[in-house]
Amino acid sequence: MSSTQKRDYYEVLGVNRDASLEEIKKAYRRLAVKHHPDKNPEHADAEEKFKEASEAYSVLSDQEKRARYDRFGHQGVGSQPFDAADFVDFSDILGDLFGLGDMFGGGRKRGTRPVRGADLRYDVTISFEEAVFGKELEVEIPRSVTCTGCKGTGAKAGSSPISCTGCGGRGQVRFQQGFFAVSRTCPQCGGAGQVIKDKCSDCGGAGRVRETRKITIRIPQGVDEGSRLRVGGEGEGGINGGPAGDLYVFIDVAEHKHFVRKDYDVHAEEAVSFAQAALGAEIRVKTVWGDETVAIPAGTQPQETIRLRGKGVPYVEGNGKGDHFVHVKVRVPRSLNDEQRRLLEEFAELEGDDVRERGVLDKVKEFFS
Ligand SMILES: [Zn+2]
Ligand SMILES: [Zn+2]
Repeated sequence: MSSTQKRDYYEVLGVNRDASLEEIKKAYRRLAVKHHPDKNPEHADAEEKFKEASEAYSVLSDQEKRARYDRFGHQGVGSQPFDAADFVDFSDILGDLFGLGDMFGGGRKRGTRPVRGADLRYDVTISFEEAVFGKELEVEIPRSVTCTGCKGTGAKAGSSPISCTGCGGRGQVRFQQGFFAVSRTCPQCGGAGQVIKDKCSDCGGAGRVRETRKITIRIPQGVDEGSRLRVGGEGEGGINGGPAGDLYVFIDVAEHKHFVRKDYDVHAEEAVSFAQAALGAEIRVKTVWGDETVAIPAGTQPQETIRLRGKGVPYVEGNGKGDHFVHVKVRVPRSLNDEQRRLLEEFAELEGDDVRERGVLDKVKEFFS
């Protein structure tokens, strides 16, 4: 890339020429997150954009280089081939944004800065009633936590990590290269600034161990399909004394054979005979709160609904409840005895309805009965 084709660094970061360091940092973070190659493996230009932003940031975030760039442009700060990773410690600048030291997929060491543990996801399927009324759930969460044997240092009990001689404990070594002072991760300690001589036997020097923890999760009443619960501090343990991440519980609700839920309302079909629908009746219906007596008014039509207020799902927050809707289904008898048939035919006659002639088979049956 020749310096004449290079885009203006301010333009690259999308900031004004008088932008503060804080604004520059912010703009860079946003771009670095957006274009990081690890997050955009299918976009070939993401890496270019990422490098471009990193280069702009490395210059504009340095007071001296920025002044030189403002006066002389790209020439002022050189135009050697650029290796973004040499200039900026991404895990540092992005780390406090995400609270994740290893968002770049490992490899990069983390130093001794406290880092918050990763969040964990736990999927659970509960029954319809459990979603309505809530439930206490005992779950086993496999996670990695700070090793208690060494309190996370990775060093054997009684010993402690010693300062790295390669970098004097800074984790970075600096080279002068043209205009730039180049910082590289110290190869001796991998950036930690410390080396462990005697490794902790519990964790093999990692400072962390896997464990399966049993915890009780309280699922509140009223949760629904797709609800998420956050359980603070029950995610992966922190690093270097950082706080633990959170546990997110994703809730699936099993289907019910009778009830269908819509938000906080419950819908259910109830069958009545056509005589009940015509004459009116009292029927017993199931709600999530138990059986209820429901009056079916005379002349109720198929698919009419009857609303039972406050017999639905309790709100997750507050005291309210949804309603229960009875969807009336009218049952037509599949077979009639002679008396029923006679009465219905009489009824049809009164109504002036045309009814089908009795079939030959019926007449034969009658003859032999
Ligand atoms: Zn240990
Ligand atoms: Zn070192």
